[in-house]
Amino acid sequence: MNTASSITVIKIGGGEGIDLAPILEEFAQRIAGGERIVLVHGGSHETNVLSERLGCPPRTITSPGGQVSRRTDRQTLDIFTMVYAGRINKRVVEDLRRLGVDAVGLSGVDGGLWTGERKTAIRAVENGRTVVIRDDLSGKVVDVDASLLHLLLGAGRTPVLTPPAITRDGVAINVDADRAAAMTASALGAGTLLLLSNVPGVLADPADPASLIGRASDPELVRAAAKGRMKNKVLAAEEAIAGGVGRVVIGSANGAGAIGRALSGEGTVFERITERVGA
Ligand code: ADP
Repeated sequence: MNTASSITVIKIGGGEGIDLAPILEEFAQRIAGGERIVLVHGGSHETNVLSERLGCPPRTITSPGGQVSRRTDRQTLDIFTMVYAGRINKRVVEDLRRLGVDAVGLSGVDGGLWTGERKTAIRAVENGRTVVIRDDLSGKVVDVDASLLHLLLGAGRTPVLTPPAITRDGVAINVDADRAAAMTASALGAGTLLLLSNVPGVLADPADPASLIGRASDPELVRAAAKGRMKNKVLAAEEAIAGGVGRVVIGSANGAGAIGRALSGEGTVFERITERVGA
């Protein structure tokens, strides 16, 4: 089978406590079995660690709506790129190639794969006051070069993608990897997007791992539960569904068979509702 809907996009988070070895092994087994998967990864935790070590502690921006993002000045972007497009991307490609996957690592900058729009004025809440930040090197992906990915997939190669993205006028920007994965899944016409991280899914109570919301049938409930960085995942899931992806699962990257479990619906499941006209 070689239809577009057979493509799966899997995003593995870069949070603390994710054990990459078992999930990459499972990934490699699936590729060997003929599945076409595009891998996207993050690197937030390692970026924080390296930033501290380089004497440039991470800073965050909180939007008036409560969304948290990384304050990205030029130095931060350089550290971010070292970790995402360098250390982690090459480690993942190295591991996958050792496991027999013809993995090709690309950042969104390479080949202009992820075209982004830079935020020129970010409203942020600082000490209870709303301020406007104008020099941040961050934004969001607005266009994905799906032809480059189809070229690789068609040749039996496996793309391993990571931020940064690049603006039309050639400025590298920090983008959220979950939302970039959602844009990628939409552009590829993927049937499924998995957003796997260090939590079992969207939790009704973030402190209680047993409070998993299994089905995102009540969007308001899910949005209200998601705090901090989980907000970006929920937004990404909703954007992917709006972009034509059939199913999105926010699930765990840890434990045996994490990919298979997420594919079978373990986690928070978002599904496209197909409206039947005249039904
Ligand atoms: P990654 O970088 O691995 O993609 P993030 O750290 O960005 O993952 O997002 C997952 C984090 O979101 C969790 O570790 C948790 O701290 C936080 N979070 C906030 N609200 C929730 C919620 N309702 N359910 C689950 N996690 C939540």
